[in-house]
Amino acid sequence: MTASTVSYGGAADASAAAGVPVVADLRSDTVTRPTAAMRAAIAAAPVGDDVFGDDPSINALQERIAALLGKEAALFMPSGTQSNLCALLAHCGRGDEYIVGQMAHTYRYEGGGAAVLGSIQPQPVPNQPDGTLLLADIDAAIKPDDPHFARTRLLCLENTWNGNVLPADYVEAATAQARRRGLATHLDGARLFNAAVASGLPAARLAGPFDSVSVCFSKGLGAPVGSALCGPRELIARAHRIRKMAGGGMRQAGLLAAAALHALDHHVDRLAVDHALARRLAEGFAGIPGLQLTPPQTNIVFVTVADGRGPALLAHLKSRGVLATGLIGLRFVTHLDVDAAGIDHAIAATREFFGT
Ligand SMILES: *Cc1c(COP(=O)(O)O)cnc(C)c1O
Repeated sequence: MTASTVSYGGAADASAAAGVPVVADLRSDTVTRPTAAMRAAIAAAPVGDDVFGDDPSINALQERIAALLGKEAALFMPSGTQSNLCALLAHCGRGDEYIVGQMAHTYRYEGGGAAVLGSIQPQPVPNQPDGTLLLADIDAAIKPDDPHFARTRLLCLENTWNGNVLPADYVEAATAQARRRGLATHLDGARLFNAAVASGLPAARLAGPFDSVSVCFSKGLGAPVGSALCGPRELIARAHRIRKMAGGGMRQAGLLAAAALHALDHHVDRLAVDHALARRLAEGFAGIPGLQLTPPQTNIVFVTVADGRGPALLAHLKSRGVLATGLIGLRFVTHLDVDAAGIDHAIAATREFFGT
């Protein structure tokens, strides 16, 4: 997969064709709208001024997510990007560097924030097709303690990676190697709960090998806004200062925390439904000549379209009320707001395009 084949959204994809109702919006699991029950939870939330530490809903969420991930403390964040940024700046100082996948969100899709705002140098290494970084590549990227070099401080991994679950034994090995070499470890776990549900392992187990973990409430969990950074108390205290500096100190944000708490109560186990819908989509695509795909592990289906017909397929799907993203490789993401009928409609529209 190259950068040009992955899209995280964009104006060109933003709506169905004129007059065509959207049947299945598969651009991302970020497109969900709060359910009626979530809106009721938001409306009922006790709130206070979180910059004073006074918001009971924020405090409850932070305690809950820290416990769920087996960490000492947590900090509510407006976005996953800010959560990763605060983690990078809390772990690394000016002139330090972090080792990260060439295609990782924390390197490629966050506007270079660590470099721009933290003077932290990324040291990207190639992602293998399953999202892992070779232990040998990590090892070779760690700089000796020598004035010529930036100080290598941190290893960053991502789980899920393009919808794939990082193998648990790989994570153990990579983080153990990082610790042996004196590095801290951070996990971009935007979709960590998808990984937990798909693997049957508790989120705390997947988070365990890392010093800090960022999780998103606004992806498959279906909350409108929010992420959390979890880790040791002292690191979270540093991240708190950085969040304020980055403009992320929010006031009665308990309204948002209430949505995230509701999501933790009601939208974690049901991620299995999204995963089943992704498999249903992949099975429906199977055997279409001109489409290549690998079976999805969680809620993201990547499809390679032969003969440069990706954009034409996207346009056709749009005319049928099905939204997806991509170019050569197309991305279909299942979530709370699509159902089996929508998936079957997407399959039928795709088969119509290929005349099969
Ligand atoms: C969505 C996402 C993030 C954070 O994105 P925001 O839009 O800033 O909340 C971080 N990492 C990964 C892998 C993501 O998918």
